[in-house]
Amino acid sequence: MIKVNQDYLKLPGSYLFSTIAKKVNAFSEANPDKKIIRLGIGDVTQPLCPAVIEALHSAVDEMANAETFMGYAPDLGYSFLRETIVEKAFKPLGADIKADEVFVSDGAKSDSGNIQEIFAKDVKVAVCDPVYPVYVDTNVMAGRTGTYDAETGLWSDVIYMPCTAANGYAPELPKGQDGFGSDNRVPDVIYLCFPNNPTGATITKDALQEWVDYANKVNAVIIYDAAYEAYISEADVPHSIYECEGARTCAIEIRSFSKNAGFTGTRLGYTVIPKDIKDADGNMLHSLWARRHGTKFNGAPYIVQKAGEAVFSEEGQRQTNEQIAYYMKNAKCILEGLKSAGYTVSGGVNAPYIWLKTPDNMTSWEFFDFLLEKANVVGTPGSGFGPSGEGHFRLTAFGSYENTVEAIDRIKNL
Ligand SMILES: *Cc1c(COP(=O)(O)O)cnc(C)c1O
Repeated sequence: MIKVNQDYLKLPGSYLFSTIAKKVNAFSEANPDKKIIRLGIGDVTQPLCPAVIEALHSAVDEMANAETFMGYAPDLGYSFLRETIVEKAFKPLGADIKADEVFVSDGAKSDSGNIQEIFAKDVKVAVCDPVYPVYVDTNVMAGRTGTYDAETGLWSDVIYMPCTAANGYAPELPKGQDGFGSDNRVPDVIYLCFPNNPTGATITKDALQEWVDYANKVNAVIIYDAAYEAYISEADVPHSIYECEGARTCAIEIRSFSKNAGFTGTRLGYTVIPKDIKDADGNMLHSLWARRHGTKFNGAPYIVQKAGEAVFSEEGQRQTNEQIAYYMKNAKCILEGLKSAGYTVSGGVNAPYIWLKTPDNMTSWEFFDFLLEKANVVGTPGSGFGPSGEGHFRLTAFGSYENTVEAIDRIKNL
């Protein structure tokens, strides 16, 4: 008898981006002469940089030779890459991370989705609202979220931390009367993502330190998604949670080569789990994740890990920084253009995302339709990321500069 996982059936239907695609396709069929500019989806557009292409080519040549051919990669990652990551990504920040605490993977989406497997089914999960949907949906699939309220878009067992204009789109500690959860629920697992997708907001090092102190106090784990770390331009914004004191006992950090080096189609990421994070019985989360990787993952491809290593080379750093500068020039154009047109905007300084308040109290979807019809520009409705995203809208800096300028000119002329 076929019996499906009932928890999967709890997931609410239509996915944000398929709804957007349907609306855009319908509009474009009805208006074949209109040039639509897409500033909606969070995918890079610049090709892989020359240093990465060169590393890929030479790794492919190695695979053609019996002496240098590589079979299965070690499931936790090649040490050449794990050591390079420690040297180049963490040491310069003063972060005390060892190579064997770095787990190489095929990307941050799978890691941020799979990491919940190592926690008990009854842990309380806290997420920002708006949120990167993977964090919530994977906990739904694991049967951890209680019941869904279609009206509010909230799960009964999830602790939501609203990120609004009032708090600068950075969540407040879930402190209630007893100093713990706002509704007296203490989170066990806290998902944070800074710089943030979708809001583009960041957190200062001092504010992140408060989160680390809080997590250590209530024995929670922070899952810190640093996929946009490379976009940080301001000095007091931490690049890693391990810049904070005490993070080694409470923080898992997830990183990706997708947004900093254009690996969205090439696939490479990594997760750091310090050996100091333990449960009450002394079990290391590190051991559980190693076991999970060993059983369910057969390693990222050798040629892709060589490409990842090349990102950290001198040329790789210079070339990928140029790509980021290109996107951030777009971000600046969007941010300043919208400001001058009277919009209330945030983000776009340490992240490739601009978060705007919809004008005239339009809902997120009303503004989506308005922008599509009147300016032929596609963005992402904020409500798609959670109830606190209602009345907001996300534009991304990943388009071409020419299209970005044109899109903003059209918006200004509305
Ligand atoms: C894009 C993105 C990722 C996914 O990265 P991949 O490595 O391509 O899977 C992870 N987290 C956030 C917040 C993202 O926006």
